[in-house]
This record gives sequence, C-alpha cells and structure tokens, in this order.
Amino acid sequence: MMAGRFVVSSASVTDLQRMAELARRLAGADGRVDAVALAGDAGVLAPEDGTLADTAGGLAGLADTLLVYEGAGEYLRGDMWAAALVDAVGRDGECVLVADAPAAREAVARTAVSCRASVASMCEDLQRAEGGGFVARRSIYGGVADGLIALVSTPAVCLFAAGKFEGAPSGESVPVEQRTLGAPAYEVTHVGDEPVVRTVDLAGASVVVSVGRGFVKREDLDLVDPLVSALGAELGCSRPIAEDFKWLPKERLVGLTGESVTAELYLALGISGQVQHLTGVKGARVVAAVNNDAKAPITRNADYVVVGDLYKVVPELVNALRSRS
Ligand SMILES: Cc1cc2nc3c(=O)[nH]c(=O)nc-3n(C[C@H](O)[C@H](O)[C@H](O)COP(=O)(O)OP(=O)(O)OC[C@H]3O[C@@H](n4cnc5c(N)ncnc54)[C@H](O)[C@@H]3O)c2cc1C
Repeated sequence: MMAGRFVVSSASVTDLQRMAELARRLAGADGRVDAVALAGDAGVLAPEDGTLADTAGGLAGLADTLLVYEGAGEYLRGDMWAAALVDAVGRDGECVLVADAPAAREAVARTAVSCRASVASMCEDLQRAEGGGFVARRSIYGGVADGLIALVSTPAVCLFAAGKFEGAPSGESVPVEQRTLGAPAYEVTHVGDEPVVRTVDLAGASVVVSVGRGFVKREDLDLVDPLVSALGAELGCSRPIAEDFKWLPKERLVGLTGESVTAELYLALGISGQVQHLTGVKGARVVAAVNNDAKAPITRNADYVVVGDLYKVVPELVNALRSRS
C-alpha cells in the first residue's frame, strides 16, 4: 500500500477519531496522519467537546501528531479553519479529511480553492484508486444508490458526513505541536446568536402521525386530531401537504427536505412512501401505514399495514384507542 501524509480535522472528538482511523488505514504503515485542532480566545474551538489532553489521548494509535493552531479567534470560523488546514497540508500532504459541521463546509471549500485540490462533499467512504488518487463514495437519490467520485489531483479534500467513531484509541497520547495562525485572509464577523423558536419537535417525538395526499381537503385533517391526542403524538406530513397545498407548516415535513424522525411509532396515513419521504422515517422503530393501495411503496417499508380507506380506518382507530383507555 502507498504511504502518504493525511490531515484530519473535526468539530467533535468522535468525528476526529473517525477521520483519523480512516486516514490511518489509507496512509499505510509508513504514512503519516496529522490531526488539526483550533484554539482561540475562548479555549479549544475544534474539536469543541474536549480538552487538548482529551483529544491527544483520544487519537492514540490513530494519528501521529495533534497540530494545535492558536489565534483562531472567538468562535469556529471557516476562514481560520481553512488557514490551518492549508498550512497543515503544506506541499506534501496527500489528502485532507474533515467531518461535517457548518464551519467545516466553508473551511473545506476554501482549502480546496487555496490548494487547487480535488474536492468531494458528504462522503461516506474513501478508497485509493488504482493508478493514483482516490475514489469517494456518497449516498445519492435519498439513499437508494451510492455515487462514486474520483479525486484525481493532489491534495484530495473530502468533507465527510457526520458519524460516530466505533473503535477505541490504543497506546500513548499523540504529541501536541503548537502553531500560530496569522491574520485571516477574509473578514467574517459573528454578529450575534438568535434563539430559534420551535413549536414542533418531530425529531424528538416518540410517536409521529403523518398525513399525506390521501387526504382530499384541508378540513379533513381534523379527522386526525383525536388520533394524535389519543397517541400523544406529534403531527407530521409529506411534502405536498406542506409545500404544495401549504395545509401544514414546513416544520412538520418529514423526509429528505424535512425532518428525520426517531419515533418508537411512525404512522403514515395516505402517504405513498416515496424514497424521499422514507429517508426521514429510517430512524423510526416501528412503521405503520394506512393506505388504500396494497401496492403503494409504503406497504413494503412498513412493519404493519392497514389496506383501506383512511376516512374509515382513522375513526375506527380512534374508537379502538378510546375503548382501551
Ligand atoms: C428532491 C426531492 C425532495 C423531496 N423531499 C421530500 C420530503 O422531504 N418529504 C416528502 O414527503 N416528499 C418529498 N419529496 C416528494 C416525494 O417524491 C413524493 O412526491 C411525496 O412524498 C408524495 O407525497 P404523498 O405520499 O403524500 O402523496 P402521493 O404519492 O400522491 O401518495 C398518496 C397516497 O395516499 C393513498 N391514498 C389516497 N387516498 C386514500 C384513502 N382514502 N385512504 C388511504 N390511502 C389513500 C394513495 O394510495 C397513495 O399511496 C421530494 C421530491 C424530490 C424530487
């Protein structure tokens, strides 16, 4: 296997470990993995969830050095992060791996431009390509296929989808090397934080009842209110309901362009179950559906299916739940 020098970075320790583990595998026994951390006025900015000692310990057996760039400012900025990555990759770095975070997206783009690098975003895996370069893999079409992207020029810069490190560090903490960042090339100013007022928590709800185009008119959604109350559920919907008909606000949209649920029970009423909708349902433990078409895609993706007219089934479900309580 070829040896190479890899640079890894992340806003969280577990993602940094994941990037370093992948880099270690690709760098080979003679290769090198340098992890990049940023520190500023408020302490460690990246990874933000651990001290430098935690991070150096967490990289044991995965990286060779932890490069700590001082002078990164008050908060994690893409321009300062990019300056650190460009310095770390230098002239001989082969590949930069960064885990996804808002500032990481900007940092990766800036790094790629500065280094005239090949770049791929939202990668899920990376392999060496025969004949040189790398091939990145990422999920496409809402998860029904993987796209393969060839990165031909050096360095290759890859932004990885956020994930979780499954392994365990082993051995000594990696040595820490301090470096100082110069003034940023671009001025970006953080002007403040505004709390988001959310009235709907689809991602955290334990039961989600979702409505789709099987409902003929807006008033018919009233049919679902007693079911939502009886189950203590949050109300979700498919895209036509939120975006085309605007019967419900977009914060209730489940799917690729909406929220992903982690519910114990997801109940889809009059939803066909197209892949873009199902993408948001993958995290549910039990999926149930009411649909009058036994061949609708949702019926192949649900644990329980009632094939029938929702206008009849929903009131029957409400009666059944009421008679139990
Ligand atoms: C880039 C992109 C992103 C997208 N993102 C999302 C997304 O995030 N979320 C999302 O939901 N969609 C998304 N879509 C749209 C998606 O492809 C589907 O068009 C949409 O999910 C369909 O919504 P639906 O199931 O409510 O409607 P339909 O597909 O029309 O299905 C309605 C279902 O109701 C059933 N039905 C009809 N009458 C009754 C009745 N009386 N009783 C019982 N069942 C009945 C029908 O059999 C049918 O299965 C996206 C599309 C694209 C291209």
